[in-house]
Amino acid sequence: MLRTHTCGELRISDVNKEVSLSGWVQRVRNKGGLIWVDLRDRYGVTQLIFEEDSTEKELLEKAASLGREFVIRATGLVIERTSKNDKIPTGDIEIKVKQLEILNAAKVPPFIIEDETDGGEELRMKYRYLDLRRNVVREKLQLRHRMMQETRKYMDGENFIEVETPVLIKSTPEGARDFVVPSRVNPGEFYALPQSPQTFKQLLMVSGFDRYFQIVKCFRDEDLRADRQPEFTQIDCEMAFVTQEDILNTFEGLVKHLFNNVKGVALEEVKRMTYADAMKFYGNDKPDLRFDMKFAELNELTQGNGFGIFDQAEIILGICAKGAGEYTRKQLDELTNWVKRPQIGAKGLVYVKCNADGTFKSTVDKFYSNEDLKVWADLMGAEPGDLLLVLSGDEKSTRKQMSELRLKMGEELGLRNRNIFKPLWVVDFPLLEWDEETQRFHAMHHPFTSPKKEDIPLLETNPGEVRANAYDLVINGVEIGGGSIRIHDRTTQQLMFKHLGFTDEEAQKQFGFLMEAFEYGAPPHGGIAFGFDRLCAIFGGSDSIRDYIAFPKNNSGRDVMIDSPSTIADEQLKELSIQVNIQEKS
Ligand code: ASP
Repeated sequence: MLRTHTCGELRISDVNKEVSLSGWVQRVRNKGGLIWVDLRDRYGVTQLIFEEDSTEKELLEKAASLGREFVIRATGLVIERTSKNDKIPTGDIEIKVKQLEILNAAKVPPFIIEDETDGGEELRMKYRYLDLRRNVVREKLQLRHRMMQETRKYMDGENFIEVETPVLIKSTPEGARDFVVPSRVNPGEFYALPQSPQTFKQLLMVSGFDRYFQIVKCFRDEDLRADRQPEFTQIDCEMAFVTQEDILNTFEGLVKHLFNNVKGVALEEVKRMTYADAMKFYGNDKPDLRFDMKFAELNELTQGNGFGIFDQAEIILGICAKGAGEYTRKQLDELTNWVKRPQIGAKGLVYVKCNADGTFKSTVDKFYSNEDLKVWADLMGAEPGDLLLVLSGDEKSTRKQMSELRLKMGEELGLRNRNIFKPLWVVDFPLLEWDEETQRFHAMHHPFTSPKKEDIPLLETNPGEVRANAYDLVINGVEIGGGSIRIHDRTTQQLMFKHLGFTDEEAQKQFGFLMEAFEYGAPPHGGIAFGFDRLCAIFGGSDSIRDYIAFPKNNSGRDVMIDSPSTIADEQLKELSIQVNIQEKS
C-alpha cells in the first residue's frame, strides 16, 4: 500500500509514529522557510509541514513546487501541532515530512474543490469527477450507498429474493415514452428500455418467487425537471398471496428501517388518506402534511350575496394561514400577483384579515358584513391574527391553484421544515384517468392494476369513478413510491385493455405473454416501487435528485462530461440497417 494511514485517521495518540499518507493537495501555504500542505483523501485532511532548518533544501523545493490537486505520497513523523485546529479531527497533529513523492502532477482545476466552490453547475458537470472530490458531493453518494445497503439488509431479512430482470425488453406502459435500441440482427426491429420491470416481476410471481425485489435502473423519455432524470433507480418489489394491507405494512417497515438506521429518526406511524380526501382537502394527491391549512369549501356561505365572481364560480375555496394576519398591503399584493402568474393561473385572490380586536378587513367588505366574515373564519378555525385566503373558479383548476398557494404559504410561514418527516399512504386511487388530448381513458397507475371488486360494474357505466387497489407513499409532499394489487386473471386483464382502447389483437400482440402466464396458475399478487433517487434526496434534505446520482444528465438529457447523446458512425448505422433522416418536429 502507498499509505500506512488515511488522511482522516491520525490523532494526538499517534505522535512519534512514522507514517506514509497519500492523497490530493488541497492547499499549499508557503511562508518562505515554512511550508504547510493540506493533504486530502475521502477520509479527511491532514496537515504536512516542511521547515527550512530541519528539512533538506531539495525536499523544501519539491514541496514549494506542489500545486492544487497534485497527487502525492508523504512519509514522515507525526508531531503535535503548536497551533491546533479544533475544526478537523486531525487538527491536533501534523506530519513532519521526510520523503515526498509526486505520484502525479495536476493541471489547475477549473473550479475550487472545496465545500464552497466557485464552479457553476455546467462546469461542475463537465468535470464531474472533480466535483465528486468535494466532501459535500461525496457525502451525498455515501448516503445513497448506505440507503442501498440498508434496503438490501431489510429486504433480505424479510425473505425477499433479489432478481435481475433484462434491460433490453419490449415496451411496458408506465405512461412515458420508451427509449428504444435498434437490433442489428433483426433489422427494422427495436428493443425498448424498461420504464420499470413491471411485467417481469409479475411473471416472477407466477414462477412462485413469492417475494421479489431489485434495486434497478429504469428509463423514461419524459420532459426533465429537477426531480426527474431519463434514467433513474427504483427499489422495485412484488409479493404474492398478499392483500393491500400486507404490502402497506411491509413497506412501511422498510421506510421505518431506513429512517431508523440511516438517519437515526424514529418515523411516526404512516397515516392513511384516500385519494378523494387528498384532493378535497389539499387539492393534491401528494399532500405535504407538515402543516395543516386544509381547504374549506365556502360555496354555501358566500354565494348569493351579489358578489358576481363567487356567484359564477363552480367552487369557492378558502385556507387559513395562521398568524399571517399581519401581512402588509405590499405582501398581499405580491401574493395576488403570484397567484395570477401564468404558472398558477388564478384570476385574483380574495383575502380576509382577522384583526386582533375581532373585526375583519377584507377585499370583499362591500359584499360581506363582519358577521358574514366571522362565519367564514369560524368554519376555517381562524383566530384573531390569522389570514384567510380565498380562490374561486372551476373546480379542477381552483383546487390546483389552491394547492400551490397552500404550499407557498407553508413555505413563507416556515412550516416546511426539512428535518420533520410526515409520511402518508394515499390509497384508493381512481383506476382510470380521462385524457383530454386523446379523448380517452388512461390507466392512472398502469394497466395491470386491479380495480376494487365492488367497483367493477362501474367500468361499463361510469369508468371514471372506478377505484383501484392502488397506493402511493408520500413524504412531505413528495411521492416516494407507488404500487398496486394486480389483476391476475386473463378475463379481467382483457377487460382492462378493452377499456383502455386496445383492440384484442393489440392487447394480444403487446401483452399476450402476460395474459397467457395468467392462465398457468397465477397467484394473487401486488407490489410497489420506490423512487430511490428521490428517497435519497429526501433523506439528504435537498430538492434535486441530481445531487444523489454520480453522473447525472442535465435538463436537456445530456451528459456534458462524456458528451452524450451523440451521432454514431455511418458504419454503425449501416450495420443496423438504419438511415438517419432528421425531420422537423411538427
Ligand atoms: N411499476 C410501477 C412503477 O414504476 C410500480 C408498481 O406498480 O409496482 O410506478
